[in-house]
Amino acid sequence: MTPTVIIVGAGVLGCALADELTRRGAAVTVVDAAEAGSGTSAATFAWINANNKAPESYRRLNVLGIEAHQRAGERWFHRSGTIQLAHTGEQLDALTRKVHRFAAVGYAAELLTPSDVVALEPSLSADGLVGAARYAAEGWLDVPTMCLTLLHRAVAAGAAFLPHHRVGEVRAGRVVTDRGEFDADTVVVAAGNGSRALLRRAGIDFPVADASRASVGIISTTAPVDAGLTHLVRAEGIALRPARNGGITYADQPTGGQWALDDPRIWTVPALLLERARRLFPALNDTTTQSVGLGTRVLPEDGLTIADWVTPDRRTYAVATHSGVTLAAHLADVVADEVLTGRRHGSLAEFGLSRFASTPR
Ligand SMILES: Cc1cc2nc3c(=O)[nH]c(=O)nc-3n(C[C@H](O)[C@H](O)[C@H](O)COP(=O)(O)OP(=O)(O)OC[C@H]3O[C@@H](n4cnc5c(N)ncnc54)[C@H](O)[C@@H]3O)c2cc1C
Repeated sequence: MTPTVIIVGAGVLGCALADELTRRGAAVTVVDAAEAGSGTSAATFAWINANNKAPESYRRLNVLGIEAHQRAGERWFHRSGTIQLAHTGEQLDALTRKVHRFAAVGYAAELLTPSDVVALEPSLSADGLVGAARYAAEGWLDVPTMCLTLLHRAVAAGAAFLPHHRVGEVRAGRVVTDRGEFDADTVVVAAGNGSRALLRRAGIDFPVADASRASVGIISTTAPVDAGLTHLVRAEGIALRPARNGGITYADQPTGGQWALDDPRIWTVPALLLERARRLFPALNDTTTQSVGLGTRVLPEDGLTIADWVTPDRRTYAVATHSGVTLAAHLADVVADEVLTGRRHGSLAEFGLSRFASTPR
């Protein structure tokens, strides 16, 4: 019998999972309250990395995330490498320690002199630069292309996509939407920061921040410009990378910053950051900001991934994570396997719900 699966949520996780499950022979229906890729996945910096990740199990999970994108070899993964700039001795000392730490665990990292940096990024201003680190395995992801292509691929192979269907309730193999009810063997909730409210209605306490309490980041993109930027570049207070429109996408550090949605200062951030970006890449003086996106982080309470069954009958599974762009290809692979075979992948051992069992909420 063909296994049937409903996925709630067509973000980067839901779309990647739809493709994996369909390729493995499941009959998949993807349901989203809005359009595919319109949630957090629409406003993300999309840095593919295992750079500032702790504890070790989460760092390793992110390494598997990078490797899965690399293995897939799809056009949406741009393995540009990251260059992290140091403009003070203190920053360089911190980078040096980090490079040694990464070398010890086999993560590609090297220190660069200012002239190395200029050889790699000739348009970068070397003013005040004292050194840098380069992480060669990292890069950035064109999220809309990944999301929509994988969803399209799944539909072409027999899956169904139902946009503008808000799920109000999930129960044993059934989702109740505002436009009808649908049944399957398994329901996978990949509804980002809509997951908690949805599962709460089924009596399940799913420890992910509610959308109203989640932190917001602002991601901006310039009009197309020949800035000469090829790597993802990070410096104190600014991160920038090539954008899919031929411009530059830029954000605060940590990527996207941390804001409350009602903080009016958030709207002053893009102009301020563009000034910082221009100091690094003077060619950006010739361009303006073309688009700005507000992204609401999907944040499990301890900041780490959750991928697990949420009901004892094993008919409802839920997956939620920050760094979902880095993790999407790997999580899709191992979650599809778990949903269809019941086998739990070793990389998920520490990312189940049982770790929250003793936390009073
Ligand atoms: C500012 C910012 C910067 C980031 N930078 C990075 C980065 O550099 N690298 C990285 O790896 N990650 C980064 N992230 C995190 C990453 O973007 C997210 O982890 C990822 O996009 C989450 O994808 P998702 O599919 O889980 O959720 P979403 O993209 O939010 O998708 C969930 C979908 O579920 C739907 N939905 C919700 N409720 C319902 C319902 N009741 N019924 C039907 N549908 C529903 C929504 O409409 C939505 O389409 C960043 C995030 C932010 C906000």
